[in-house]
Amino acid sequence: MNLIEKDRKYLWHPYTQHKTAATPIAIVKGKDALLWDENGKEYIDAIASWWVNPFGHSNTFVADAIYKQLTTLEHVLFGGFTHEPAVQVAEKLLPMLPSNQQKLFFSDNGSTSVEVAIKVALQYFYNKGEKRTTIIAFEDAFHGDTFAAMAASGISFYTQAFQGMFIDVVRIPVPTPGNEQASFDALEDVIQINSCAGFIFEPLVQGAAGMVMYNPEALDELIEICKKHKVLTIADEVMTGFGKTGKNFACDYLKQQPDMMCLSKALTAGTIPMALTTFTQELFDAFYDDDINKALFHGHTFTANPTGCAAALASMSLLEKPEMQANIKRITTEHLAFQKRVQNHPKVKTTRVLGVIFALEIKSDSTESYYGSMRNKLYNFFIDKGVILRPVGNIVYILPPYIITDEQLQKVYTIIEEAIEIV
Ligand SMILES: *Cc1c(COP(=O)(O)O)cnc(C)c1O
Repeated sequence: MNLIEKDRKYLWHPYTQHKTAATPIAIVKGKDALLWDENGKEYIDAIASWWVNPFGHSNTFVADAIYKQLTTLEHVLFGGFTHEPAVQVAEKLLPMLPSNQQKLFFSDNGSTSVEVAIKVALQYFYNKGEKRTTIIAFEDAFHGDTFAAMAASGISFYTQAFQGMFIDVVRIPVPTPGNEQASFDALEDVIQINSCAGFIFEPLVQGAAGMVMYNPEALDELIEICKKHKVLTIADEVMTGFGKTGKNFACDYLKQQPDMMCLSKALTAGTIPMALTTFTQELFDAFYDDDINKALFHGHTFTANPTGCAAALASMSLLEKPEMQANIKRITTEHLAFQKRVQNHPKVKTTRVLGVIFALEIKSDSTESYYGSMRNKLYNFFIDKGVILRPVGNIVYILPPYIITDEQLQKVYTIIEEAIEIV
Protein backbone atom coordinates (compact mmCIF):
# COMPACT_ATOMS: atom_id res chain seq x y z
CA MET A 1 0.00 0.00 0.00
CA ASN A 2 1.22 3.51 -0.72
CA LEU A 3 0.79 6.40 1.69
CA ILE A 4 -2.62 7.45 0.33
CA GLU A 5 -3.99 3.90 0.51
CA LYS A 6 -2.78 3.54 4.08
CA ASP A 7 -4.29 6.92 4.94
CA ARG A 8 -7.61 5.77 3.53
CA LYS A 9 -7.42 2.57 5.55
CA TYR A 10 -6.62 4.11 8.94
CA LEU A 11 -7.36 7.83 9.17
CA TRP A 12 -10.34 10.13 9.68
CA HIS A 13 -9.72 13.73 8.55
CA PRO A 14 -11.18 16.96 9.95
CA TYR A 15 -14.19 18.56 8.19
CA THR A 16 -14.21 15.73 5.65
CA GLN A 17 -17.03 13.68 4.12
CA HIS A 18 -14.86 10.73 3.22
CA LYS A 19 -17.30 9.30 0.71
CA THR A 20 -17.13 12.33 -1.60
CA ALA A 21 -13.86 14.02 -0.64
CA ALA A 22 -10.95 14.21 -3.05
CA THR A 23 -7.84 12.19 -2.22
CA PRO A 24 -5.67 14.06 0.29
CA ILE A 25 -2.33 15.38 -0.86
CA ALA A 26 0.63 13.75 0.86
CA ILE A 27 3.04 16.49 1.91
CA VAL A 28 6.57 15.37 2.66
CA LYS A 29 8.50 18.60 3.20
CA GLY A 30 8.05 22.29 3.96
CA LYS A 31 10.41 25.26 3.82
CA ASP A 32 9.41 28.91 4.30
CA ALA A 33 6.24 29.56 2.27
CA LEU A 34 6.58 26.33 0.26
CA LEU A 35 5.38 22.75 0.65
CA TRP A 36 6.25 19.71 -1.47
CA ASP A 37 4.15 16.62 -2.03
CA GLU A 38 5.39 13.04 -2.41
CA ASN A 39 5.67 13.45 -6.18
CA GLY A 40 7.88 16.50 -5.82
CA LYS A 41 5.18 19.00 -6.79
CA GLU A 42 5.67 22.41 -5.16
CA TYR A 43 2.90 24.44 -3.51
CA ILE A 44 2.79 27.99 -2.15
CA ASP A 45 1.12 27.85 1.26
CA ALA A 46 -0.97 31.02 0.82
CA ILE A 47 -3.04 30.40 3.99
CA ALA A 48 -0.15 29.67 6.37
CA SER A 49 -1.55 26.16 7.01
CA TRP A 50 -4.81 27.31 8.61
CA TRP A 51 -3.28 30.55 9.88
CA VAL A 52 -0.73 29.00 12.23
CA ASN A 53 2.51 29.61 10.42
CA PRO A 54 3.60 33.27 10.08
CA PHE A 55 7.35 32.63 9.92
CA GLY A 56 7.37 29.82 7.40
CA HIS A 57 7.71 26.06 7.50
CA SER A 58 10.62 24.26 9.15
CA ASN A 59 11.93 27.44 10.76
CA THR A 60 15.34 26.58 12.24
CA PHE A 61 15.29 29.34 14.90
CA VAL A 62 12.09 27.93 16.40
CA ALA A 63 13.31 24.34 15.89
CA ASP A 64 16.57 25.06 17.76
CA ALA A 65 14.65 26.57 20.69
CA ILE A 66 12.43 23.49 20.80
CA TYR A 67 15.40 21.11 20.64
CA LYS A 68 17.16 22.96 23.46
CA GLN A 69 14.04 22.78 25.62
CA LEU A 70 13.40 19.12 24.74
CA THR A 71 16.84 18.17 25.97
CA THR A 72 16.54 20.30 29.16
CA LEU A 73 12.97 19.72 30.38
CA GLU A 74 10.45 18.43 27.87
CA HIS A 75 7.43 18.35 30.19
CA VAL A 76 6.42 18.57 33.80
CA LEU A 77 2.91 18.62 35.19
CA PHE A 78 1.65 22.17 35.89
CA GLY A 79 -0.57 21.23 38.83
CA GLY A 80 1.61 21.99 41.83
CA PHE A 81 4.71 22.70 39.71
CA THR A 82 6.01 25.57 37.65
CA HIS A 83 8.93 26.26 35.31
CA GLU A 84 10.86 29.06 33.75
CA PRO A 85 9.51 28.86 30.15
CA ALA A 86 5.92 29.41 31.40
CA VAL A 87 6.94 32.47 33.43
CA GLN A 88 8.97 33.79 30.50
CA VAL A 89 5.96 33.48 28.18
CA ALA A 90 3.98 35.65 30.62
CA GLU A 91 6.81 38.19 30.93
CA LYS A 92 7.14 38.44 27.17
CA LEU A 93 3.46 38.38 26.23
CA LEU A 94 1.80 40.57 28.87
CA PRO A 95 3.56 43.81 27.81
CA MET A 96 2.29 43.15 24.24
CA LEU A 97 -1.35 42.79 25.37
CA PRO A 98 -3.88 45.47 26.39
CA SER A 99 -2.67 46.81 29.76
CA ASN A 100 -5.59 45.33 31.74
CA GLN A 101 -4.54 41.75 30.91
CA GLN A 102 -2.69 40.42 33.96
CA LYS A 103 -3.07 36.63 34.21
CA LEU A 104 -2.45 33.73 31.81
CA PHE A 105 -4.09 30.31 31.68
CA PHE A 106 -2.51 27.71 29.37
CA SER A 107 -4.34 25.10 27.32
CA ASP A 108 -3.84 23.21 24.07
CA ASN A 109 -5.77 24.74 21.17
CA GLY A 110 -8.09 27.54 20.14
CA SER A 111 -11.23 25.69 21.16
CA THR A 112 -9.95 24.99 24.67
CA SER A 113 -8.86 28.62 25.08
CA VAL A 114 -12.47 29.61 24.29
CA GLU A 115 -13.85 26.88 26.54
CA VAL A 116 -11.80 28.28 29.43
CA ALA A 117 -12.95 31.86 28.75
CA ILE A 118 -16.63 30.88 28.67
CA LYS A 119 -16.30 28.79 31.85
CA VAL A 120 -14.59 31.71 33.60
CA ALA A 121 -17.36 34.10 32.48
CA LEU A 122 -20.05 31.77 33.82
CA GLN A 123 -18.26 30.89 37.06
CA TYR A 124 -17.32 34.53 37.73
CA PHE A 125 -21.02 35.28 38.31
CA TYR A 126 -21.64 31.96 40.05
CA ASN A 127 -18.87 32.76 42.52
CA LYS A 128 -20.47 36.14 43.20
CA GLY A 129 -23.85 34.48 43.77
CA GLU A 130 -25.34 36.24 40.74
CA LYS A 131 -27.34 34.17 38.24
CA ARG A 132 -26.07 35.04 34.76
CA THR A 133 -25.95 32.18 32.28
CA THR A 134 -26.36 33.61 28.76
CA ILE A 135 -23.43 34.12 26.40
CA ILE A 136 -23.74 36.62 23.54
CA ALA A 137 -22.03 35.90 20.22
CA PHE A 138 -22.06 37.16 16.63
CA GLU A 139 -23.94 35.60 13.76
CA ASP A 140 -21.63 33.39 11.66
CA ALA A 141 -19.04 33.40 14.43
CA PHE A 142 -16.49 30.62 14.69
CA HIS A 143 -14.95 29.84 18.07
CA GLY A 144 -14.00 26.17 17.73
CA ASP A 145 -15.38 22.66 17.92
CA THR A 146 -15.55 21.72 21.61
CA PHE A 147 -19.02 22.07 23.13
CA ALA A 148 -19.07 25.60 24.56
CA ALA A 149 -17.02 26.87 21.63
CA MET A 150 -19.48 25.18 19.25
CA ALA A 151 -22.40 26.71 21.10
CA ALA A 152 -20.87 30.16 20.57
CA SER A 153 -20.25 29.42 16.88
CA GLY A 154 -22.93 30.42 14.41
CA ILE A 155 -21.92 28.54 11.27
CA SER A 156 -24.86 26.15 11.41
CA PHE A 157 -23.73 23.12 9.43
CA TYR A 158 -20.78 22.71 11.79
CA THR A 159 -23.13 22.40 14.73
CA GLN A 160 -26.59 21.31 13.55
CA ALA A 161 -26.33 17.73 14.83
CA PHE A 162 -25.95 19.10 18.36
CA GLN A 163 -28.71 21.72 18.51
CA GLY A 164 -30.58 21.58 21.79
CA MET A 165 -27.54 20.36 23.71
CA PHE A 166 -25.80 23.69 24.13
CA ILE A 167 -25.29 26.33 26.79
CA ASP A 168 -27.49 29.38 26.34
CA VAL A 169 -26.20 31.55 23.49
CA VAL A 170 -27.97 34.55 21.94
CA ARG A 171 -26.71 35.94 18.66
CA ILE A 172 -26.43 39.54 17.45
CA PRO A 173 -25.66 40.84 13.93
CA VAL A 174 -22.08 41.67 12.99
CA PRO A 175 -21.56 45.47 12.78
CA THR A 176 -20.27 45.41 9.20
CA PRO A 177 -20.20 48.88 7.60
CA GLY A 178 -23.79 50.15 7.42
CA ASN A 179 -25.11 47.61 9.96
CA GLU A 180 -23.59 49.11 13.10
CA GLN A 181 -26.76 50.51 14.65
CA ALA A 182 -28.67 47.23 14.21
CA SER A 183 -25.86 45.45 16.03
CA PHE A 184 -25.78 47.98 18.92
CA ASP A 185 -29.58 47.85 19.28
CA ALA A 186 -29.61 44.06 19.25
CA LEU A 187 -26.96 43.96 21.97
CA GLU A 188 -28.93 46.37 24.19
CA ASP A 189 -32.08 44.30 23.67
CA VAL A 190 -30.38 40.98 24.39
CA ILE A 191 -28.90 42.34 27.62
CA GLN A 192 -32.30 43.71 28.72
CA ILE A 193 -34.09 40.39 28.19
CA ASN A 194 -31.45 37.85 29.29
CA SER A 195 -29.09 37.44 32.25
CA CYS A 196 -25.91 37.81 30.22
CA ALA A 197 -22.54 36.69 31.58
CA GLY A 198 -20.32 37.38 28.58
CA PHE A 199 -19.97 38.52 25.01
CA ILE A 200 -17.52 36.61 22.81
CA PHE A 201 -16.35 37.97 19.46
CA GLU A 202 -13.67 37.65 16.82
CA PRO A 203 -12.26 41.20 16.87
CA LEU A 204 -12.43 43.02 13.49
CA VAL A 205 -12.22 39.88 11.31
CA GLN A 206 -14.42 36.77 11.34
CA GLY A 207 -12.02 34.26 9.85
CA ALA A 208 -14.04 31.11 9.21
CA ALA A 209 -17.03 33.15 7.98
CA GLY A 210 -14.84 34.23 5.06
CA MET A 211 -12.76 37.08 6.51
CA VAL A 212 -15.82 39.23 7.20
CA MET A 213 -14.54 42.59 8.49
CA TYR A 214 -15.95 45.40 10.64
CA ASN A 215 -14.57 48.60 12.12
CA PRO A 216 -12.87 49.12 15.49
CA GLU A 217 -15.23 52.01 16.35
CA ALA A 218 -18.18 49.60 16.16
CA LEU A 219 -16.48 47.06 18.41
CA ASP A 220 -15.55 49.82 20.88
CA GLU A 221 -19.22 50.74 21.07
CA LEU A 222 -20.30 47.10 21.65
CA ILE A 223 -17.68 46.66 24.39
CA GLU A 224 -18.82 49.91 25.99
CA ILE A 225 -22.42 48.67 26.07
CA CYS A 226 -21.23 45.44 27.74
CA LYS A 227 -19.18 47.37 30.31
CA LYS A 228 -22.20 49.53 31.16
CA HIS A 229 -24.16 46.35 31.98
CA LYS A 230 -21.22 44.48 33.61
CA VAL A 231 -21.24 41.84 30.85
CA LEU A 232 -17.75 40.33 30.47
CA THR A 233 -16.09 40.68 27.06
CA ILE A 234 -14.01 37.94 25.42
CA ALA A 235 -11.82 38.77 22.43
CA ASP A 236 -11.18 35.54 20.52
CA GLU A 237 -7.88 36.43 18.83
CA VAL A 238 -7.07 32.83 17.96
CA MET A 239 -6.96 33.78 14.26
CA THR A 240 -6.20 37.54 14.42
CA GLY A 241 -3.40 37.39 17.00
CA PHE A 242 0.33 37.91 16.44
CA GLY A 243 0.38 40.38 13.57
CA LYS A 244 -2.29 39.15 11.15
CA THR A 245 -4.26 42.43 11.21
CA GLY A 246 -1.15 44.60 10.84
CA LYS A 247 -0.87 45.19 14.59
CA ASN A 248 0.18 42.54 17.13
CA PHE A 249 -3.45 42.06 18.13
CA ALA A 250 -6.72 43.22 16.59
CA CYS A 251 -7.54 44.69 20.03
CA ASP A 252 -4.66 47.14 19.50
CA TYR A 253 -7.01 49.03 17.15
CA LEU A 254 -9.49 49.59 20.00
CA LYS A 255 -9.91 52.27 22.66
CA GLN A 256 -11.71 49.78 24.90
CA GLN A 257 -10.05 46.72 26.45
CA PRO A 258 -11.64 43.25 26.61
CA ASP A 259 -11.81 41.37 29.92
CA MET A 260 -10.39 38.19 28.39
CA MET A 261 -8.41 37.21 25.31
CA CYS A 262 -8.03 33.82 23.58
CA LEU A 263 -4.78 33.11 21.74
CA SER A 264 -3.49 30.09 19.83
CA LYS A 265 -2.74 29.34 16.13
CA ALA A 266 0.36 31.53 15.46
CA LEU A 267 1.39 31.44 19.16
CA THR A 268 3.95 28.68 18.54
CA ALA A 269 4.68 29.39 14.85
CA GLY A 270 2.85 26.26 13.76
CA THR A 271 5.01 23.84 15.73
CA ILE A 272 3.52 22.66 19.05
CA PRO A 273 -0.21 22.85 19.87
CA MET A 274 -0.68 25.44 22.62
CA ALA A 275 -3.17 28.12 23.61
CA LEU A 276 -3.63 30.85 26.17
CA THR A 277 -6.60 32.54 27.74
CA THR A 278 -5.66 35.84 29.40
CA PHE A 279 -7.57 37.70 32.11
CA THR A 280 -7.83 40.89 34.11
CA GLN A 281 -6.77 40.81 37.74
CA GLU A 282 -10.42 41.37 38.70
CA LEU A 283 -11.45 38.10 37.06
CA PHE A 284 -8.66 36.18 38.76
CA ASP A 285 -9.60 37.73 42.11
CA ALA A 286 -13.19 36.48 41.79
CA PHE A 287 -11.79 32.92 42.02
CA TYR A 288 -9.31 33.71 44.82
CA ASP A 289 -10.87 32.59 48.09
CA ASP A 290 -10.52 30.37 51.14
CA ASP A 291 -13.32 28.30 49.65
CA ILE A 292 -11.81 25.67 47.32
CA ASN A 293 -15.07 25.49 45.37
CA LYS A 294 -14.45 28.98 44.02
CA ALA A 295 -11.31 27.78 42.18
CA LEU A 296 -11.24 27.20 38.43
CA PHE A 297 -11.38 23.43 38.14
CA HIS A 298 -10.10 23.22 34.62
CA GLY A 299 -6.87 21.77 33.29
CA HIS A 300 -5.29 19.66 30.62
CA THR A 301 -2.53 17.10 30.96
CA PHE A 302 -0.21 19.15 28.77
CA THR A 303 -1.06 22.52 30.35
CA ALA A 304 1.93 24.89 29.92
CA ASN A 305 4.07 22.21 28.29
CA PRO A 306 7.62 23.64 28.52
CA THR A 307 8.46 22.69 24.91
CA GLY A 308 5.39 24.58 23.70
CA CYS A 309 6.41 27.54 25.85
CA ALA A 310 9.90 27.51 24.29
CA ALA A 311 8.29 27.52 20.83
CA ALA A 312 6.05 30.44 21.84
CA LEU A 313 9.03 32.44 23.15
CA ALA A 314 11.00 31.89 19.94
CA SER A 315 7.93 32.75 17.89
CA MET A 316 7.27 36.01 19.75
CA SER A 317 10.87 37.11 19.35
CA LEU A 318 10.61 36.51 15.59
CA LEU A 319 7.44 38.61 15.48
CA GLU A 320 9.17 41.51 17.26
CA LYS A 321 12.03 41.66 14.75
CA PRO A 322 11.99 44.84 12.61
CA GLU A 323 12.37 42.69 9.45
CA MET A 324 9.23 40.75 10.36
CA GLN A 325 7.25 43.92 11.05
CA ALA A 326 8.49 45.24 7.69
CA ASN A 327 7.28 42.02 6.02
CA ILE A 328 3.79 42.56 7.43
CA LYS A 329 3.72 46.13 6.05
CA ARG A 330 5.06 44.96 2.69
CA ILE A 331 2.28 42.37 2.35
CA THR A 332 -0.39 44.94 3.27
CA THR A 333 0.95 47.33 0.61
CA GLU A 334 0.93 44.58 -2.02
CA HIS A 335 -2.57 43.49 -1.01
CA LEU A 336 -3.83 47.06 -1.42
CA ALA A 337 -2.26 47.29 -4.88
CA PHE A 338 -3.86 43.96 -5.84
CA GLN A 339 -7.18 45.16 -4.46
CA LYS A 340 -7.00 48.21 -6.76
CA ARG A 341 -6.24 45.93 -9.69
CA VAL A 342 -9.19 43.56 -9.20
CA GLN A 343 -11.92 45.46 -7.36
CA ASN A 344 -13.58 46.76 -10.53
CA HIS A 345 -13.56 43.42 -12.34
CA PRO A 346 -17.15 42.64 -13.40
CA LYS A 347 -17.06 39.27 -11.62
CA VAL A 348 -15.77 40.70 -8.33
CA LYS A 349 -18.45 41.61 -5.81
CA THR A 350 -16.34 42.98 -2.94
CA THR A 351 -12.77 43.02 -1.71
CA ARG A 352 -11.32 43.74 1.73
CA VAL A 353 -7.86 44.07 3.25
CA LEU A 354 -6.59 44.26 6.81
CA GLY A 355 -2.94 43.60 7.63
CA VAL A 356 -1.84 40.45 5.80
CA ILE A 357 -5.46 39.36 5.23
CA PHE A 358 -6.95 39.82 1.76
CA ALA A 359 -10.44 38.64 0.82
CA LEU A 360 -12.33 38.77 -2.47
CA GLU A 361 -15.94 37.81 -3.00
CA ILE A 362 -16.84 36.49 -6.46
CA LYS A 363 -20.27 37.39 -7.84
CA SER A 364 -22.53 34.39 -7.90
CA ASP A 365 -26.17 33.83 -8.91
CA SER A 366 -26.92 31.23 -6.28
CA THR A 367 -26.15 31.61 -2.60
CA GLU A 368 -22.96 29.62 -2.52
CA SER A 369 -22.72 27.13 0.29
CA TYR A 370 -19.54 26.80 2.31
CA TYR A 371 -18.44 23.65 0.52
CA GLY A 372 -20.52 24.21 -2.64
CA SER A 373 -19.59 23.60 -6.29
CA MET A 374 -17.93 26.96 -6.94
CA ARG A 375 -15.79 26.47 -3.88
CA ASN A 376 -14.65 23.05 -5.09
CA LYS A 377 -13.93 24.29 -8.59
CA LEU A 378 -11.81 27.14 -7.21
CA TYR A 379 -10.02 24.94 -4.70
CA ASN A 380 -9.10 22.36 -7.34
CA PHE A 381 -7.94 25.05 -9.75
CA PHE A 382 -5.61 26.54 -7.13
CA ILE A 383 -4.21 23.14 -6.13
CA ASP A 384 -3.65 22.27 -9.76
CA LYS A 385 -1.65 25.50 -10.17
CA GLY A 386 0.40 24.80 -7.03
CA VAL A 387 -1.21 27.32 -4.67
CA ILE A 388 -2.91 26.32 -1.43
CA LEU A 389 -5.99 28.46 -0.90
CA ARG A 390 -9.21 27.28 0.76
CA PRO A 391 -12.10 29.41 -0.48
CA VAL A 392 -15.13 29.77 1.78
CA GLY A 393 -18.05 29.40 -0.64
CA ASN A 394 -17.46 32.18 -3.20
CA ILE A 395 -14.96 34.03 -0.99
CA VAL A 396 -11.28 33.61 -1.82
CA TYR A 397 -8.89 34.83 0.85
CA ILE A 398 -5.12 35.03 1.25
CA LEU A 399 -3.41 34.89 4.64
CA PRO A 400 0.20 34.17 3.76
CA PRO A 401 3.18 33.54 6.01
CA TYR A 402 4.87 36.91 6.61
CA ILE A 403 8.06 35.65 4.96
CA ILE A 404 6.36 34.96 1.59
CA THR A 405 8.47 36.51 -1.18
CA ASP A 406 7.13 39.23 -3.51
CA GLU A 407 7.44 36.80 -6.41
CA GLN A 408 5.41 34.12 -4.62
CA LEU A 409 2.76 36.64 -3.63
CA GLN A 410 2.48 37.93 -7.20
CA LYS A 411 2.01 34.35 -8.37
CA VAL A 412 -0.84 33.91 -5.89
CA TYR A 413 -2.50 37.11 -7.18
CA THR A 414 -2.12 36.06 -10.82
CA ILE A 415 -3.65 32.67 -10.16
CA ILE A 416 -6.60 34.24 -8.35
CA GLU A 417 -7.14 36.51 -11.38
CA GLU A 418 -7.11 33.44 -13.64
CA ALA A 419 -9.54 31.67 -11.32
CA ILE A 420 -12.03 34.55 -11.49
CA GLU A 421 -12.17 34.00 -15.27
CA ILE A 422 -12.96 30.28 -15.08
CA VAL A 423 -15.86 30.33 -12.59
C1 LIG B 1 -9.42 28.26 14.58
C2 LIG B 1 -10.19 29.07 15.55
C3 LIG B 1 -10.62 28.54 16.77
C4 LIG B 1 -10.42 27.09 17.13
O1 LIG B 1 -9.08 26.76 17.27
P1 LIG B 1 -8.64 25.22 17.20
O2 LIG B 1 -7.19 25.25 17.52
O3 LIG B 1 -8.93 24.76 15.81
O4 LIG B 1 -9.45 24.50 18.21
C5 LIG B 1 -11.28 29.37 17.65
N1 LIG B 1 -11.51 30.66 17.34
C6 LIG B 1 -11.12 31.21 16.18
C7 LIG B 1 -11.39 32.64 15.91
C8 LIG B 1 -10.45 30.44 15.24
O5 LIG B 1 -10.07 30.96 14.06
